[in-house]
Amino acid sequence: LNSAADQAICQPLPVLGRDVRVPLVAGGEVTYAALDYAASAPALQRVWDDVAAYAPYYGSVHRGAGYLSQLSTDLFEQSRSTVAEFLGCRADDQVVFTRSTTDSLNLLAAVLPPGTRVFVFETEHHASLLPWRDGDVSYLSAPRTPREAVDTLARALADRAPHGPALVCVTGASNVTGELWPVRELAAAAHAQGARIVLDAAQLAPHHPVDIAELDVDYVAFSGHKLYAPFGSGVLAGRADWLRDADPYLAGGGASKKVARRADGTVDVEWHTTAARHEAGSPNVIGGYAIASACRALTEAGFGPLVVREQELVSRVLSGLAGIPQVKVLSLFGEDAPRVGVISFVVEGWNSSHFAAALSAEYGIGVRDGLFCAHPLVRTLLGSAPDALGECGAPEAEPGELPQPHGGTPSLNAIRVSFGAGTPDEHV
Ligand code: PMP
Repeated sequence: LNSAADQAICQPLPVLGRDVRVPLVAGGEVTYAALDYAASAPALQRVWDDVAAYAPYYGSVHRGAGYLSQLSTDLFEQSRSTVAEFLGCRADDQVVFTRSTTDSLNLLAAVLPPGTRVFVFETEHHASLLPWRDGDVSYLSAPRTPREAVDTLARALADRAPHGPALVCVTGASNVTGELWPVRELAAAAHAQGARIVLDAAQLAPHHPVDIAELDVDYVAFSGHKLYAPFGSGVLAGRADWLRDADPYLAGGGASKKVARRADGTVDVEWHTTAARHEAGSPNVIGGYAIASACRALTEAGFGPLVVREQELVSRVLSGLAGIPQVKVLSLFGEDAPRVGVISFVVEGWNSSHFAAALSAEYGIGVRDGLFCAHPLVRTLLGSAPDALGECGAPEAEPGELPQPHGGTPSLNAIRVSFGAGTPDEHV
């Protein structure tokens, strides 16, 4: 890293009218490896093709007599069924199209029955950690093994009193370590104590099949832009009753079936009892269609071969990193714990942000650095206090100055590489 010769071949390249600094290899060819799939994965060509084919025909859904509206309503509802099938939904589950996993979990937080106690590990992504904070929440301390996670949850649920409604929120695969959480066992522990469980599948769904009935979870949330569809759409799927019984997440057209002015001057509303109840306004029809297209593509590719290929890549990255003495790979459950293609590490003597900037500027390797929206988890992994709200990032390098290694200071944040299976014809 950091040699003047390498800097000399890093050139501005016009991309969409802007100059982006990219490294060029000897023949003047651009090299760039985007290894930040855990943040957002590139959309599959097939998904772009499906969206492009539909784009000239989209119209508003559920309310038009014209053929564009009819076509769009049909495709939107068909997309809902495709997602339900992808998730192995039960007969009484609803599939609500949202903006993202964050939106899905906030929607669930908004429909919890009064008095619901929420149980969440402090190691969760902020999208799973924070939506419940205005209610009655128990934050569970970081487990160091999957077994400890199940025992910690079982104990916390058993200790709760009174035994009103309860919800457990857990991530299937960590966006920091890639480690898999024991979802089935956690669901069994939750149900044994009469609690429900929501699975944050933002990182799990792109890498493994997520079958709501087989995992026996009550709700699943995920985002299109991590599942090889473009931005702007997400899903909350699961038990219809809480969704049906609560007021709509957003009030407006589409969610309301009948609205009338009462004699006393107030307004009377009858809300839909279907998923439309929580999809007020004009829904993101193209987003739903794109998610369904990605679900179909993954189902057709088959998770079996994708998992095998991805695990080969995981092993290759881990063994490469193991050969560099200054690198420490982060893990909660131990280095041999099963994980998806998400690997975070620190490099001794280097500030992680500087290291990540150097990887991009000099080698064309795009990674993520920081605390990955999971501040308590990353602080635990780095050995600092999980409750310390301290400095997260690193001082910026001056423009034109190459990041420098610095000895001594322990890293306050980490570097993450994340990827999919990389099939030959598609970058899954
Ligand atoms: N949960 C996990 C585990 C995630 O990795 C992410 C995204 N990094 C989210 C939730 C939030 O997803 P989105 O930003 O699409 O709402």
